Amino acid sequence: MKISIPQILYDQLIDYCRQQFPLKACGLLAGKQSDGVKHILKIYYVENRDKSRRYFTIDPKEQIQAVMDMNQKGLSPLGTFHSHPDKPAELSEGDLKMSMDKRASYVIVSLAERLPTLRSFQVSMSDGKAVAAEEEVEIKPL
Ligand SMILES: [Zn+2]
Repeated sequence: MKISIPQILYDQLIDYCRQQFPLKACGLLAGKQSDGVKHILKIYYVENRDKSRRYFTIDPKEQIQAVMDMNQKGLSPLGTFHSHPDKPAELSEGDLKMSMDKRASYVIVSLAERLPTLRSFQVSMSDGKAVAAEEEVEIKPL
């Protein structure tokens, strides 16, 4: 699967992750899926209830509100994002354990280097183990 993010949403996402630094930022990705491409059309920024640089919990109330808003706007939930303030843009062991939805995209924004990195993964089960597969990310110019 490929994930396509408009430049303006990408810029906002990076800004948001930087604002939350050194805490982990998190949220939900919504949009439309067609021809094997997930078009991200809206990002819901959700408070990290853990207020931590190591862990994150998406506030369940805000999550329900976001999904209701998606339904109203005719958008589908396509995945989640969270930031890694000081680790590379890879799914950690803990991330893998929490990544149970094999249709969802798991986007990681790393702020470990001077330039931020964004990567996206899908997770599937293989021999009882969660395995991550990287997705192609397209940043769509304005
Ligand atoms: Zn993580």
